[in-house]
Amino acid sequence: MDQVLLLKCGELVLKGLNRGKFEDKLCATLRHRLKKVGDFHVKSCQSTVYVTPENGSDIEKAVPVCQKVFGIVAVCRAAVCDKDIDDICEKGGVFLKDALCGVKSFRVKCKRTDKKFPLTSPEIAATVGGYLQDAYPHLKPDMENFDLCVEVDVREEHAYIGAERLPGAGGVPVGTSGRGMLLLSGGIDSPVAGFMMAKRGLDLSAVHFFSYPYTSKEAKQKVLDLAAILSGWNGPLTVSVVPFTHIQTEIREKCAEDYFTVIMRRFMMRIAGKVASIQNCGCLITGESLGQVASQTLEAITVTNEASSLPVFRPLIGMDKEEIVRISRRIGAFETSILPYEDCCTVFTPRHPQTKPRLENVQRQEARLDVDALVEEAMQGVERITL
Ligand code: ATP
Ligand code: MG
Repeated sequence: MDQVLLLKCGELVLKGLNRGKFEDKLCATLRHRLKKVGDFHVKSCQSTVYVTPENGSDIEKAVPVCQKVFGIVAVCRAAVCDKDIDDICEKGGVFLKDALCGVKSFRVKCKRTDKKFPLTSPEIAATVGGYLQDAYPHLKPDMENFDLCVEVDVREEHAYIGAERLPGAGGVPVGTSGRGMLLLSGGIDSPVAGFMMAKRGLDLSAVHFFSYPYTSKEAKQKVLDLAAILSGWNGPLTVSVVPFTHIQTEIREKCAEDYFTVIMRRFMMRIAGKVASIQNCGCLITGESLGQVASQTLEAITVTNEASSLPVFRPLIGMDKEEIVRISRRIGAFETSILPYEDCCTVFTPRHPQTKPRLENVQRQEARLDVDALVEEAMQGVERITL
């Protein structure tokens, strides 16, 4: 029996004239990712994307791939039927055997896009329901409290019957909102921040500040592993690794200890902005959450922000650590994020960091450094790795 995955597109429906562009992007992403698991034909029609296996490819393998593509709210596996009510009933009876045997009650829902089909939607639903009940007499039809909802979809070329609605990743297709530069540390927060913005359609590039030998090669590998996990959602991802040791030792030698963190974070913003312009990114993304640490007070964020000419997106700003951890687990990053390697932020942490830094004071401290030269030197040493 021929099977197909019907992918339901969420917000694409809302995009009016841009919808075609969104659908094209979505299909291109699907084709690219599905190549790794077999031959699949992908086409979109009326807010549904059809994924059809070809040359004996395994539809099962396409399911998890489709579930990781942003822009899709549900993945439904269905049997392909002729546009004939008997064929729909018979194929449904066979295709849904396991699902129907495992439940007590069911209902049938029908959508009919082809208005020329001889039966109306309620008639189709009633006929299929009656057939399935005869075939599986233990089943009780129940419109309200059903265990399983059988869906029949009568379209132009074929009819489809299925019952499985697996969750999709939601959001909008990656790339339809532009490109964003993620400041990626080895922690829990920044991969989650990247995931959230990719979900809103930003195609990610990442920058990591690396303080070798204060932070180890393992710490860098951990960041690359996190980027690889993110690339499962975002698609190919470039990580620009910036040598940060000299900047940190200069700040430590020349500036007041309590300003160390905020000055370091301002350097991160300046350099991330430059890397962003090379990578065609229109915004920065960080994993900051208000009040989480000394550098994430309103005053510290204000002073940090001032060093960036690009908008800085902080999708975790209002979230608790627990909520962030939940997402981190869901996207498969948590176990890697908690591996115990130092981040450059923890290397020279001041004993009493300024929680309410003032811009004038910070600028006075920075005047002791050759900021432009340090930024330029770091830019010269950038290493790019694509995952
Ligand atoms: P995370 O869990 O993402 O490391 P955090 O709670 O440890 O965040 P900070 O260390 O203050 O918070 O960092 C705040 C944000 O600054 C991070 O979420 C990340 O976006 C960015 N950042 C911190 N360290 C680095 C780094 N070494 N390279 C790139 N970005 C960094
Ligand atoms: Mg950190």
